Parts: sequence; structure tokens; C-alpha cells
Amino acid sequence: MKKIAVLTSGGDAPGMNAAIRAVVRTGIYYDLKVVGVRRGYAGLIEQDFIPLKLGSVADIIQRGGTILLTARCDEFFTEEGRQKAVANLQQEGIEGLVVLGGDGSFRGALEIDKLGIPVIGIPCTIDNDIPCTSATIGFDTVVNTVLDAINKIRDTATSHERVFVIEVMGRRSGFIALKAGLAGGAESIMIPEAPLKVDDIIKNIQRGLKRGKKHSIIVIAEGAADACEVTKEIETKTGLETRLSILGYIQRGGTPTAQDRMLASRMGSEAVQLLLRGQRKKMLALDGDKIRNFDLDWAVNQSKTVSLEDLQLADMLSI
Ligand code: ADP
Repeated sequence: MKKIAVLTSGGDAPGMNAAIRAVVRTGIYYDLKVVGVRRGYAGLIEQDFIPLKLGSVADIIQRGGTILLTARCDEFFTEEGRQKAVANLQQEGIEGLVVLGGDGSFRGALEIDKLGIPVIGIPCTIDNDIPCTSATIGFDTVVNTVLDAINKIRDTATSHERVFVIEVMGRRSGFIALKAGLAGGAESIMIPEAPLKVDDIIKNIQRGLKRGKKHSIIVIAEGAADACEVTKEIETKTGLETRLSILGYIQRGGTPTAQDRMLASRMGSEAVQLLLRGQRKKMLALDGDKIRNFDLDWAVNQSKTVSLEDLQLADMLSI
């Protein structure tokens, strides 16, 4: 193997840059040429390739986002688009591809492998909703970003004796809401996997008030309920001043945490080493403290669920 490529696809996540750096530096360490594909699968189709040298990835380990840019690409859903993408890779002499992204990007990667280019997937998404790995690159950073916001909102909630509803990202999964809510000491956590009734949230608020709590923090994953409606209902039914804070896109950016940089460095390097060992169609995963790999075809069809024990723990500790 002489030449490999790397791309980032789907939603961006802090730590993608650290992973790109690890792919490039490991590749060059083993005398490979490394090509960067810009804007994910769209760049594959449009042949938007750039050579990546040691210096190309200097000073990016600490940066959020992705220097390779990312995109969602409808043309890649067509057979014609995918064939064009693979023909471009072959024309460039690329013998292996590292794909950084989430579930959709992995399904796209499988199609590329099927057409003849070996691929390795690195799970990068703030949502943590990729099966077989206990953590995805970007998840630890977003949890800490949300936690920082909860801490700040808590100050105002205490000063003004208010209820705060905080909406966080997570359309289909509650990993962010659960971890940040538990670590942030939220009174109630609402996630798509176990949506609460607003009346139960109100019971928690009133129980807290009775024992002298000055405020309540409710964390809601965006896919669990309409946070605006929940806020109104709490205010109407309790008569307490209730405010909504939608954290939105501040959650996607920011400098990656040490944990995400470590994960990205280890997975990025391992992806290249797998290609060099002749492996293909693999997904990297964190299992305890070890980096493992799984068959990508199999892995994308597994499921991953939030820990309902952690949800019960959060509930117990918020009395
Ligand atoms: P993520 O990787 O963050 O889950 P998306 O689901 O948006 O992001 O997927 C990113 C891109 O991957 C899509 O725009 C498309 O180009 C490609 N893709 C997604 N699903 C498939 C699929 N089933 N087959 C082929 N390509 C896909």
C-alpha cells in the first residue's frame, strides 16, 4: 500500500481534526502518501483532493470542526454517484480510505468497500449513538460543554429562584442529556428513550421546593419533547417562573477535551495500521481502555442504548 485517503462526513464533531492528524502522521511515519478529501462524499465525486503533509496537520489537534470540511451528499445515494467516487479514488491511485463520521457515513463507506476500495471507519459524532463503541469522538467534549452551560445557568436559577429548562442536542438518543444531566445534578432528565410526563417533572420540582431547594434544572434532549411546550406547562401548572434555554449549535464546536484527543489519536493511528495489515471494512471502537475493531457491516446493524440505571441514579440523587 502506497497511498491512502481520509475524509470527514456528516455532522462535525470536536476531535475530528485530532483524528485527521493521527491518520496523516501515522501514514507518513509508515512511508505512505496521504490525500485529504474535502467535503466528505461530495468531494469524492467532485475529486476535491488535497495532498496532506506533516505540516498540513500542524496546530490542529486543539481545534474543533474539521479542516477537511464536511457535507451531506445526496448524489452519493445513487449508484452512479458512488461509482464516480470510486473511479476518482482509483484514478488517484488511492488504495485505502479512512472515513470519519457517524452512522450514515459508515453506510456510505460500506458501499465504497463493496466497489473495491478498502475502508476503515472511525466513529465521530457528538451524539454517541454508534453501536459497539462505548464512546465516539466528540461526545466527551459536548458533555463538558453542556455541563459548563448547566453550571452557569444554575447560578442564575439559584439567584432568582427559578426553574430552568435546558434543551440539548439528541434527536434520537439521550446520551448527551443523560450524562450532562447526571453530572450537572439536574432535577429531571427527559430523553427520547424514556420520556417523562410533565406532571412527573412537576412532582420533582414541588418535592424540591418543600425541602427548601431554590431552583430546579430540567434537561431535555431535543427529540424527547417540545421544550417550549414543557416550559409553558410547568409555569402554568406550578406558578413558578420558568425559563427555557436552548443550547443549540454551541454544542457542536469548541476545543476537544483531552479524552477526545486521546481517542482520536489512538483511533486515527490504528485505522492506518489496520489498512497496512491488509484489513478492510472495519469500524474502530473503544472497549474499556482498549481500541478494538469490528466488522463494519455487522457493527452498523447493532443497537446501542442509554443506561437506564444512570437515569434511575440521576432521579435518586435529585431528591
Ligand atoms: P452521519 O454520518 O453524521 O450519520 P449522515 O447520515 O448525514 O451523517 O450521512 C452522511 C452522508 O453519508 C450522506 O449525506 C450520504 O452522502 C452518505 N450516506 C448516508 N447513508 C447512506 C447510505 N445508506 N448509502 C450510501 N451513502 C449514505
